[in-house]
This record gives sequence, structure tokens and C-alpha cells, in this order.
Amino acid sequence: MGKVIAGNWKMHHGPAAAAAFFSRFRPRAALDSVEILFFPPDLSLAVSMETVGVPAGFGVQNIHPEKAGPFTGETSGEMAREAGARFALIGHSERRHIFGESDAEVSAKAGAAVRAGLVPVICVGELLEERRAGLLEPVLRRQIGAIVASVATASRFMVAYEPVWAIGTGETATPGDAAEAHAIVRSALGELGAAPILYGGSVKPGNAASLMTAPDVDGVLVGGASLDPDVFARIAEAGATAGSGDPVGGTWSAG
Ligand code: PEP
Repeated sequence: MGKVIAGNWKMHHGPAAAAAFFSRFRPRAALDSVEILFFPPDLSLAVSMETVGVPAGFGVQNIHPEKAGPFTGETSGEMAREAGARFALIGHSERRHIFGESDAEVSAKAGAAVRAGLVPVICVGELLEERRAGLLEPVLRRQIGAIVASVATASRFMVAYEPVWAIGTGETATPGDAAEAHAIVRSALGELGAAPILYGGSVKPGNAASLMTAPDVDGVLVGGASLDPDVFARIAEAGATAGSGDPVGGTWSAG
């Protein structure tokens, strides 16, 4: 299995900027050796898929748990799937900490993604005060414990370990920190522990290769550095160089 290189654009790159991004995104890596994913804003999904120009998967950044209904401003997994998305970020730290999503809501959304035929990419990670209080492992076990039943029947899912203190701050976990947390996540997943686990938190071209060669790190989820096509291409190239590195053999299937 190649490394997964995922770009979360957050609320950046409307349709014109998305098309401009893909007019320049030309990684020099052998792209069959990495899996590139983009999570554009919903309104930029269609133009992104039309203009991408290289093999890549697309996903949405959030879904509502219900299929349809009186939920102004929301989008369901079924609608995202119909629009061409194949993946969905679930429980990103900005959803948890800015929009107040609970573990129960994250679990419901993970289940909704599976129901809709999307591959959930479930984000977990500790706050700085939780890390300082020695709560890394209980926090990760609580967050993973909340979603295992929801993804138990998924044909495919991923987890992204994103320490909240490293997201958008320029602070990065060391490869050792990432390996420690990923081992906890894998253990907490139990029999689902073969799922790929991505690292996220201020990934840049300069740290991507060392993070992706750490044990148990199957790829990266990149925010800020995914917005520039040349910078993100260099991270994809680092992923191709880092190779598989997957100690559990790259089994994607959870069911
Ligand atoms: C993210 O948005 O998931 C993220 C990790 O952001 P950044 O790379 O900017 O820290």
C-alpha cells in the first residue's frame, strides 16, 4: 500500500481558485505509489473533479447524520456521494472544538458516511492541556471507542491522528510522538486495527518524509500546506519516497 496524501482545504479555494490550483498541481512522483485525496469546500467539488488532471480521490469535509430533512445549511452523505465524493472527513478538530461536535455526533456521522457509501476519514487528537495532563491515551481510546461500532461494517475507513495543538500552529509532533499515538489508535481499534492511520498537524515538505517513515504512519492529512499546488506536490513526492512502511500489511478492509 502506498502512503495516503490528503489535503483538507477547509474554507479556502472557491471554484475559480480550485480550478487555478489544478492547472498547476503536477507532482513529479510516480502517482501510482501514493493515494492523493482532496477535501475541497462543497461548492468547489465539481470543478475540482473536472480539472484535477492527475489520479486523485475527492471527499467532503463534513456531513449531516440524516439523509435529508429540515436542516438548513447542511449536506448529507448521500448528497455528497451523488455529487461525486468518495470520502468524508468526520470529526475534524475544527468541527469538534469550534462547532462543538460531541463524540456521539462524530459517531453518528461516521455511521452516516458508511450508510452513504463514503469512506470515513475519522479525525482524533488531544488538546494541549490533555497531553500535558498525561491524558493522551485515554483521550484517544475514548474518541476511537466512540466510532468503532459505526465503522465496523465499513468496507474501508481511515483514522487521522491530529494533535489539536499542532493544527495550523506550525507546531508538529515528532515522528516519535506520531508513532506513539498511532500505536495507541491501532490498539484501540482492536480487530479493525489494520485501517490506515494518517498523521495531521502542520505537515510541510520539510517534515513529511520523516513523519511518513515513522512506524504506523500510513500517510498525512495536510491543511495549510495543501493550499499551494507546488507545496502539496512536494508532500506527495515525499510520500512516494517514504513508500509503504505499513507494518500491518496495508489491509484496507474493515469488514
Ligand atoms: C488539518 O486541517 O487537518 C490540518 C492538519 O491543518 P494544518 O496542516 O494546517 O495544521
